[in-house]
Amino acid sequence: MSLTFDVLLYTLQRILIFFSDTGGGHRAAANALREGFHHQFPERYEIIYVDGFKECAPFPFNQIPLTYFPLTTYTPWLWSGLFHFSNTRWTLPLAAAFDDFILRRGCANAIRRRKPALVISVHPLINRAPCNALRAVAPHTPFVTVITDLFDAHGMWFSAASDLLTTPTQGAFERGVRWGFPQAKMRVVGQPIALQFAEKFAAQGTDESVTTWRARLNLKADVFTLLLVGGGEGMGPLRAIARALDEAELPIQLAIIAGRNDTLRVQLQNVEWRVPVNIQGFVTDMPDWMRASDVVITKAGPGTIMETLAAGKPMILSGNLPGQEEGNVTFVEKTGVGVLRTTPEAIVKQVRAWLAPGNPELAHMQESARREARPAAALEIVKLMDALLR
Ligand code: UDP
Repeated sequence: MSLTFDVLLYTLQRILIFFSDTGGGHRAAANALREGFHHQFPERYEIIYVDGFKECAPFPFNQIPLTYFPLTTYTPWLWSGLFHFSNTRWTLPLAAAFDDFILRRGCANAIRRRKPALVISVHPLINRAPCNALRAVAPHTPFVTVITDLFDAHGMWFSAASDLLTTPTQGAFERGVRWGFPQAKMRVVGQPIALQFAEKFAAQGTDESVTTWRARLNLKADVFTLLLVGGGEGMGPLRAIARALDEAELPIQLAIIAGRNDTLRVQLQNVEWRVPVNIQGFVTDMPDWMRASDVVITKAGPGTIMETLAAGKPMILSGNLPGQEEGNVTFVEKTGVGVLRTTPEAIVKQVRAWLAPGNPELAHMQESARREARPAAALEIVKLMDALLR
């Protein structure tokens, strides 16, 4: 038994995925790729995650992920400034050189230690350095960049000499063209999201009813359900939005997912709600929550947007992080899958309008969501990667 296991491990090809927990989206993309590899090519690959900043950068740069939540939440102007300042033809090379300087040696060590057959990046800041490190350590090993921003992808995504670069949308592809990335190496395949979305997408209309899903999650069966999320970190004014909806005297229930934001979760639990409310911390069954809802209210996180489309639900974007999420708003509005409403009052007004009898907008948006969804993107991406190894 153990010998078989040892032989299996020996014959598995290793794949390294460089990521960082800045928000929840990069890890979610890495998880979806791992799931895709195991589903599509069982017993062929061993997937190893490398938490780029934590493992490869020296102190104090290994602390960078800890700055993401406070920077984006309390000083968004500074985050925006850093994003835009580093995203020009003149400044990008400097930013890329600095990033390379702090990460390359650690990335090279990580690669040497694990001897991978393929290296993947799902993070714009841990992209060029592992690619350069790989070229030095194992020049014939392929490197792939998987972009997880929907539209205005930062130039850092295109700063590595990747053998393959996948983009979630045509908009991000065109961004790559403008940055001069070789078109022949780019593919528009969608955002890697959990395979459960694909299974549920395929089963829509045939599987259990929404009522059953709601019962499973402790939601009321016949009440219009709004799912409130703020990415992995529970960002944005979720509490103010929930309070405004609660006070609006609408026939609704709320499912609120606070993610890793424990302060928010406890605050929400201490509110006396008038409408039925279901409060959760970090959930691992997002496909079920989306499936059980009528509308998703979220910041413009790329992962959540693509998951909402795959669940076939209309969305209200309550705002966006400055910089990398600005283009996600453009994507949602252009494709007609949701609207941007940046104040609790505007969100209440929109929900009230959608609930008015005979309003056709929700049905149109559901159709658009199904058209834009790429629920099986993870499988498409891993097939492209597998092809690089044959
Ligand atoms: N997510 C999750 N459980 C939670 C909250 C969020 O699995 O309780 C996942 C969500 O499904 C999505 C990711 O975290 O895949 C959030 O990614 P997104 O790009 O929307 O935002 P980010 O957190 O990266 O800013």
